[in-house]
Amino acid sequence: MANNFKYFIGNWKMFGLPESKNILTLIDDFIKADTKFNSKYKVYITPPFTLIESYSSFFKNKTIKIGAQNLYHKDNFGSNTGSVSAQMLRAVGSDLVLVGHSDNRAEGDTNEMLKQKIQSALNNDMQVTFCIGESKEEKVKGNTFPFLKSQLTSVLNSEFNKIEDSLIVAYEPIWSIGTGMIPSSEELTKTIKYIKEVLNEIFGKTSNIKVLYGGSVDSSNINDLKIISEIDGFLIGGASRKEKNFIDIINKYFR
Ligand code: PEP
Repeated sequence: MANNFKYFIGNWKMFGLPESKNILTLIDDFIKADTKFNSKYKVYITPPFTLIESYSSFFKNKTIKIGAQNLYHKDNFGSNTGSVSAQMLRAVGSDLVLVGHSDNRAEGDTNEMLKQKIQSALNNDMQVTFCIGESKEEKVKGNTFPFLKSQLTSVLNSEFNKIEDSLIVAYEPIWSIGTGMIPSSEELTKTIKYIKEVLNEIFGKTSNIKVLYGGSVDSSNINDLKIISEIDGFLIGGASRKEKNFIDIINKYFR
């Protein structure tokens, strides 16, 4: 039977220095002490590339897992100045990687590159969190569902989910990221259900691909979000960079 734990993935974006590890130590202490609920969730943090090796070796035998925010689409070593491949990330302890974040799509990620990134991450035994989400313009045009369907079907194929949870989808409406605005409960329930329907078409009904929500999640709105049982976890940006905010989210989710 499919596992049903929730994911809390913290995306640090372009923030974080070696000493920011203290934030993770405090989160890790909280998880360890949270014996009543800690079997019901998994926590990943995606710091910048510069911190992956030191953080993943420090947290190797702890509860927090470390991931990356992006990767280069080509798998081999090569003359791609400034690029980091899946193999390199895996070698320094990255367990997961975000693919298709709207920040990276805005900087030129194409569907073809996203396919290659996912394949390359999976080939190197990393879990993938594939991000999708409509802009304000698409939403206003009433185009959200066709837009999301196209983002899913143009990149994903049934080969991407051979191992349970090797692929997770994160729904992050662009207009919600960093703005303090979240979709209404009704809207979000319908959208997550719709995404799951499209995933069932691609992967088959029994694949149970998890769908997370991301966009301005914090301790002030988690009570509204947690009642939507279709949401399998959260991708958390700003609120993941302060241990209290991140811990409050998990605490309120389960209590
Ligand atoms: C993100 O950038 O993935 C994100 C969800 O950011 P925030 O939580 O700050 O909106």
